[in-house]
Amino acid sequence: MSGTNDAYVKFSDVQKTYDGETLTVRNLNLDIAQGEFLTMLGPSGSGKTTTLMMLAGFEAPTQGGIFLEGRSIGNIPPHKRGIGMVFQNYALFPHMTVEENLAFPLKVRKFGKSEIEAKIKRALDMVRLGAYGKRRPGQLSGGQQQRVALARALVFDPKLVLMDEPLGALDKQLREQMQLEIKHLHEDLGVTVVFVTHDQGEALTMSDRIAVFNDGAIQQLAVPAELYERPQNAFVAQFIGENNRLHGKVVAMDGSTCKVEIPGSGNVQALPINVDAVGQRTVLSLRPERVKLNPPAGSVSNIFSARVAEVIYLGDHVRTRVSVCGHDDFVIKLPNSGGVMQVEPGAAITIGWETEDCRALEAS
Ligand code: ADP
Ligand code: MG
Repeated sequence: MSGTNDAYVKFSDVQKTYDGETLTVRNLNLDIAQGEFLTMLGPSGSGKTTTLMMLAGFEAPTQGGIFLEGRSIGNIPPHKRGIGMVFQNYALFPHMTVEENLAFPLKVRKFGKSEIEAKIKRALDMVRLGAYGKRRPGQLSGGQQQRVALARALVFDPKLVLMDEPLGALDKQLREQMQLEIKHLHEDLGVTVVFVTHDQGEALTMSDRIAVFNDGAIQQLAVPAELYERPQNAFVAQFIGENNRLHGKVVAMDGSTCKVEIPGSGNVQALPINVDAVGQRTVLSLRPERVKLNPPAGSVSNIFSARVAEVIYLGDHVRTRVSVCGHDDFVIKLPNSGGVMQVEPGAAITIGWETEDCRALEAS
């Protein structure tokens, strides 16, 4: 995948500015493999839609090139790129029936009548709407309309499908169901999907790889587990999942570990991720579920006294907020694995964690 010539989609040094001053996309280099489900995940305004629109051909890069199967697509208009698209607002034609909506991209591509009928039937069956061909979009639920939009994007057998927050308008339960449906369709069809969302759970559920966007640049590109387990900077650690943050200064480095001084609280053993010298300021990132309650002395490399501030029972886990190392917003998630848990607000406890669960990231 790191090879440069076999990328199915390639962004090469792509920049985009709308006003000639601010860079909406800074310097994008991204290779997407054939058949991959690649998600662009990031907060609103981070440049995801702009990136997708450049790939679709509705916006042009200010600099750099985009390649599909090794060919520059800079001069190819959107409808000739062979790309299917799905948007949040469905963008169905309201005055046309479902079948007519699906026929549209086929007629544009000059398919014959019998072929059009066969493709429509297959696409509607694929999204389990075989009986709804004669209805208009207004006579369908939101989830059904989104399925029609999906069928319309797939009906002409595109090799590449772009989806921009396609599930954003659906309620939670339907959204989660559609996430799995789209994922399974992707697996069955072998089509390449570039998916945009601001929802980290959606990205983790669906993707082969995730490109985390912030401020017009990719912060990290990795498979879901890698992003969660090994965030490379403070933005990614914060945006994907929850993390506790402790600010300090590197006081010792010894190859694979470092020692970080937390002012007034002592030293922490951590993994140096993007700090490399004594004296650097750093923010330590710790997942709440990796923190241990009252660990036996010597069992973990970091142990601190803490005080319980709040205990919230959430069924599958108990969320405990504690004061530790000068912070009163430190969160511990304790799995409800059956035993009776004795944590009361006000109690003095110790908490601890392993060196490898504590990542020393650059202080922003
Ligand atoms: P995202 O999809 O991640 O929310 P967008 O790509 O839509 O981000 O927008 C990124 C930035 O570019 C935003 O600040 C937005 O206001 C700006 N922008 C997007 N589209 C246009 C446009 N057509 N003209 C001018 N500015 C735009
Ligand atoms: Mg957007």
